[in-house]
Amino acid sequence: MPLTSLVGNHALKEQLMPRLSGGTLGHAFILAGPAGSGKEELARILARAMVCDHPGAKPCGSCPACKKALGGIHPDIIAVAPLEEGKAITVDQVRQMRADAYVRPNEAPRKVYIVEQADHMRVEGQNAMLKLLEEGPSYAAFLLLAENQGGLLTTVRSRCETLSLIAQEQELSGPEEEQTALLARTMAELWLAGDEAGLMALCAEYERKKWTRQQFSSLTRYMTEHLRSLLPTGADRRRILQGTQLMDQFRLALAHNVNPAHLAGWLCASCTEE
Ligand SMILES: [Zn+2]
Repeated sequence: MPLTSLVGNHALKEQLMPRLSGGTLGHAFILAGPAGSGKEELARILARAMVCDHPGAKPCGSCPACKKALGGIHPDIIAVAPLEEGKAITVDQVRQMRADAYVRPNEAPRKVYIVEQADHMRVEGQNAMLKLLEEGPSYAAFLLLAENQGGLLTTVRSRCETLSLIAQEQELSGPEEEQTALLARTMAELWLAGDEAGLMALCAEYERKKWTRQQFSSLTRYMTEHLRSLLPTGADRRRILQGTQLMDQFRLALAHNVNPAHLAGWLCASCTEE
């Protein structure tokens, strides 16, 4: 599977998988997430998918283009980074990128620019980037990496599709993990049954001990798994789908630093919503 090298980020992977195979990737992306969330890895995967020669699921990992990309020597994948540690990409660098973008790809159908620390660029640089996003040649694709999306101009953001990544905090293990898996099972069943009071009592108990982000993230993963496992049992399909979509929303909210206690409240409130 092309996305296995990206750790965690299950919801995002599910969203991207069909698009990698179908070749429906756009030309401007913001890959947003904190350090350790896998932005760089996802950028490399998307870049490979855009240059891959294989007719099926991309990146195949074995065609000559993929091999070059994996070796870091594909001429149509270009990384643009600040010239000095702690500095931002300059407007001159963006102009060079623009000039380069107008030279047709060497061998792939597309030319992919991975722009590191895009959120650190000054306004002048970002405006030059914006022009390139708007007017650049159709074969050129730009992957802007950002820890803080707020550092990017609204105009730049509006030109891009944002992919939000979640930091892979240390995985839970041992008894804590087992307990979370068990809790997720119970919560999924209460939620499915529309038992708001039961769910609230359980959430209140956990809130006293304070949810950690890591715990809540695992909880959403186990709840998704459990809800899906109930599909063949004749349980309410629509309700299950609603639940798994809610879990996706929670993971996205966690990536934006929403407090787990707030999400627990949201979960209880959604219990009786139609
Ligand atoms: Zn390939």
